[in-house]
Amino acid sequence: MNDTIVCKFGGSSLADASGFQKAKDILLADARRRYVVPSAPGRRFDGDDKVTDLLYRCYQQVEKGESCAQTFAKIAQRYAGIARDLGLALDVAALLENTRADIERVRTPDFAASRGEYLNGVLLAAYLGWDFIDAADVVRFDKQGAFAAEWTNRVLSEELKGHAHAVIPGFYGAFPDGGVRTFSRGGSDISGAVVARAAQAALYENWTDVSGFLMADPRIVEAPAGIERLTYRELRELSYMGATVLHEDAIFPVHKAGIPTNIRNTNDPAHPGTMIVDSMDEAQYRYPITGIAGHKNFSLISIEKAMMNAELGFGRRVLQAVEEFGISFEHLPTGIDTMCVVVAESDLNRYRDKLINRIGELCQPDHIEISSGLALIATVGQGMVRTRGTAAKLFTALYRAGVNVRMIDQGSSELNIIVGVDGEEFEAAVRAIYDAFVRGA
Ligand code: ASP
Repeated sequence: MNDTIVCKFGGSSLADASGFQKAKDILLADARRRYVVPSAPGRRFDGDDKVTDLLYRCYQQVEKGESCAQTFAKIAQRYAGIARDLGLALDVAALLENTRADIERVRTPDFAASRGEYLNGVLLAAYLGWDFIDAADVVRFDKQGAFAAEWTNRVLSEELKGHAHAVIPGFYGAFPDGGVRTFSRGGSDISGAVVARAAQAALYENWTDVSGFLMADPRIVEAPAGIERLTYRELRELSYMGATVLHEDAIFPVHKAGIPTNIRNTNDPAHPGTMIVDSMDEAQYRYPITGIAGHKNFSLISIEKAMMNAELGFGRRVLQAVEEFGISFEHLPTGIDTMCVVVAESDLNRYRDKLINRIGELCQPDHIEISSGLALIATVGQGMVRTRGTAAKLFTALYRAGVNVRMIDQGSSELNIIVGVDGEEFEAAVRAIYDAFVRGA
């Protein structure tokens, strides 16, 4: 571990020349910021196009044998505008013309989409006067398309040693044969984490357009408090339940290497944002909970059978039925003679009757009932474990708000308490929990 900081800038932070200027100021403000991973230009205003979306459209047009000239002209305008406004001494016209020709020649969606980050990387390197490292040379996927973490770490570490400062475009890498492959959407976050690991960085800064994570969804809770610090495990629980700021897969490379991630706001660089760390001790928790996240549209399949607890393999057969339809279950609250499987409503609706028949065949239950329109709310916080009365406080708050709790699931990790409520009561429940733990804390 050294003192290097790896910075990733999201698409909204590099959408135009003023974003590039802010990024440069940030990078130059701290000499430890040596490597930077850019996304492609995002939206500048509501209704604007993301360059990545335009690139996918170009590919679709080329694939259908149509011309992508008009779509590509929009992309070219974005980059030419940035280069002009920054006064870059770069032959952007030639660069763009070659890129368009490459998209037509290579004809894969991944290659087309990757050009957004590639071009932004070339421009940013020119603007900073830093080296450019093509991600296709240092980020590897195997033949099946799975990310080759160890190969990448070895080769990228070696490569970085030769550069005091470098720009490495996010989102893509290459198959062993050199063909470009991208991560899933939003994947520049993963690239940034991968570079941080290879650089054995002290910190991974993820610069975006918000000042980190909030304790609850601001569309539900008015002006929720920000989360100053949380652990990777807590983040995983919150993102699984719907909090989206960072790509889920960006956690693994840095978590594994013990590198903290700091979510920062390009438009408010003085704000400390959210720091995600490996572990925290009790004193570092400001509130008894870390955050609240949730989702609507779940269904509860309740399967009832007398003496179920004594029947060997019952649970396995229920899950076998669910698995046969390719449905992944969210939770499994069980009673003495009932077992409940919580699944996404959209998954269930596709196979509803067939699935019930199959459970009937395999398990011979006395009764199966499906209730839909369930919302799940996870109240997350490592500090909850040691605080007496957390559950009492949560359920009292829900009771006082008139919310009927239909399901309870407390993970054995005691990192969270998940409650299921009627979809219509979702917002009221989130507000009640927030008020009890944060405003009342
Ligand atoms: N530009 C890609 C996307 O829009 C990747 C990223 O921004 O992280 O999904």
